[in-house]
Amino acid sequence: MTAHCVTLEAMRARIRSASPAGTSGVRLLAVSKGQPAAAIRELVRCGQRAFGENYVQEALAKQRELAGVEVQWHIVGPLQSNKCRDVAQHFDWLESLDRAKLVPLLGAARPPGRPPLNVLIQVNIDDESSKHGCNPSQIDELARRVVATPGLVLRGLMAIPAPHPDPSMRIASFRRMSRHFEALRARHPCVDTLSMGMSEDFEEAIACGATEVRIGTALFGPRHQMEPAP
Ligand SMILES: *Cc1c(COP(=O)(O)O)cnc(C)c1O
Repeated sequence: MTAHCVTLEAMRARIRSASPAGTSGVRLLAVSKGQPAAAIRELVRCGQRAFGENYVQEALAKQRELAGVEVQWHIVGPLQSNKCRDVAQHFDWLESLDRAKLVPLLGAARPPGRPPLNVLIQVNIDDESSKHGCNPSQIDELARRVVATPGLVLRGLMAIPAPHPDPSMRIASFRRMSRHFEALRARHPCVDTLSMGMSEDFEEAIACGATEVRIGTALFGPRHQMEPAP
């Protein structure tokens, strides 16, 4: 086993032991922003399939390098309307939908031959002015629009809680997300994904009901500076 595989297996073991008994597997999304395509290739060799990227241009460059490698591509970063076409054409999941204006652009650009684009609504759960994501009061309206749009399928919610030093404050945010998720799932049977938790807090997120965690540095080590200018 290579060092990459050892790290990946250790992360999977931590995810399993954080998962409440009786829950089905929590998905590990490997967040590869700031990492070279070669690092993705290594983890794919160890059996990892789902990778998350923040920047569309950076991700497209890696997709070209990795042509033929089986990767499930997720966009987790803020989305500009002029990038909707690229996302609809080249990704499997969008985890950061935060406004209604993008919905028809995404649906129209999804190639008819491909399965629908899986969509998570990003929620600004701590009402931070610096953060992307919709207000919790807007979840239902956004969800209805996604469900009504051919080429898209609503899968759930994503959040990045404020990095509060007090764990009880972080847990309170994760619990609020879990309640929004359960309410949404009760209305839309297609909803099955609650994406929350990163390298520093994924165990708390899983305890509060996350079905997917997004892990960057704890898997890959420090990020390299390869974020292109917006
Ligand atoms: C960078 C990023 C992550 C991963 O963060 P780490 O702290 O490196 O695990 C997860 N989610 C989003 C939206 C990110 O931008």
